[in-house]
Amino acid sequence: MTAAPRPDVVIVGAGIVGAACAYALAREQLRVLICDAGFPGGGATAAGMGHIVVMDDSPAQLALSALSRRLWEELAATLSLACEDERPGTLWIAASGEEFSALDEKRALYGRAGVRAEILDEQTLAAAEPNLRRGLAGALFVPDDRVLYPPNAARWLLDAAIERGAELRIGSAARAVGAGRLTLVGPSGAVETVEAGAVVIAAGIDTPSLIPGIAIVPRKGHLVITDRYPGLLHSQLVELGYLHSAHSMSGASTAFNLQPRSTGQVLIGSSRELAGRDASINPAIVRDMVARAVAFMPALAGCLAIRTWTGFRPATPDKLPLIGPWPDLPGVWIAAGHEGLGITTATGSAALIAAGIAGRAAPIDATPFLPSRPMPAMEAA
Ligand SMILES: Cc1cc2nc3c(=O)[nH]c(=O)nc-3n(C[C@H](O)[C@H](O)[C@H](O)COP(=O)(O)OP(=O)(O)OC[C@H]3O[C@@H](n4cnc5c(N)ncnc54)[C@H](O)[C@@H]3O)c2cc1C
Repeated sequence: MTAAPRPDVVIVGAGIVGAACAYALAREQLRVLICDAGFPGGGATAAGMGHIVVMDDSPAQLALSALSRRLWEELAATLSLACEDERPGTLWIAASGEEFSALDEKRALYGRAGVRAEILDEQTLAAAEPNLRRGLAGALFVPDDRVLYPPNAARWLLDAAIERGAELRIGSAARAVGAGRLTLVGPSGAVETVEAGAVVIAAGIDTPSLIPGIAIVPRKGHLVITDRYPGLLHSQLVELGYLHSAHSMSGASTAFNLQPRSTGQVLIGSSRELAGRDASINPAIVRDMVARAVAFMPALAGCLAIRTWTGFRPATPDKLPLIGPWPDLPGVWIAAGHEGLGITTATGSAALIAAGIAGRAAPIDATPFLPSRPMPAMEAA
């Protein structure tokens, strides 16, 4: 019997980020082994909304999300139907005149990043989304933002990597990480040491259990999904204040965020709180979230909600993911800490990891994402 060839890269975690890394690295002709302790795409990826959105909380976030959306666009024609990939665009809703006047700057910022966006006034917004309440000041429409179904997109990326020779091990947990080395415990309890040219840790909120001291904490979010109401809304709707809710770590917060699914269902988000790993539904937060959604779209009051769930975003203190080499362990790379934007930024993160491992220039400035950067202290809840 001949031993399997030593992998060039081992990836820990087959969520959307690990899956995108596996695909990007397999396309580099590298031998990839990817393992997941649970079910691929079953972590934060299964809980996410699947909004592929360009966000501008910081210049680095804008650069990574714009690159990532471009990479999703390149994949769009090849994704399976099960990925439910669509391009409904995003409407950033300005509720007040003050918010409306901020749209010019946001549009200019997007324009400089090569992202198309147009300002809609009160009447044009009402015509585009007739079920929104009257009297909203307007919106910024970003037509090329997308929506997909995250766990199936992760599965598609894994299958595409496997087609290029990658190996996926389900139920295989990494227990210890060394320089270019990993201890794996298989589903039967068998322990194995795997050596590879590079080890990529894409373990989401579990990354600190493998890389002690790394600054990632779980940030809980709730989502509610309705029964089918085709035509109730057309674009992903996000209130302009969403970025403030996402940025500030202090206290629990909710923001208006609605997504049309290809099934005709409506996904209602979103909330943020630091609650450890308590996955239970917090009724007060759900009430607040739904009330906010109904305040923006009164027609939702007559809709049936069929399921509510929670998930944990892997959050970092400076709101940027950790992508790049881990300074304390040569041969170990991190791709984790994507908070509420990891479905979007999985493709760009994978491009940065693939360029780094292949020794090529990065497609955007990788410095803001380096895991070795100085990190502020995590804000208290
Ligand atoms: C409510 C909510 C809404 C969201 N909406 C959006 C959105 O609209 N758009 C967007 O871009 N993002 C969104 N996100 C964020 C997004 O879901 C996450 O950023 C993203 O899924 C993180 O992916 P990941 O691969 O890093 O982590 P995960 O999906 O959690 O994957 C990590 C994987 O690592 C595995 N693992 C852990 N430890 C080990 C180990 N020791 N050995 C082997 N495997 C291990 C786990 O089993 C898991 O499968 C949302 C998140 C939430 C919670």
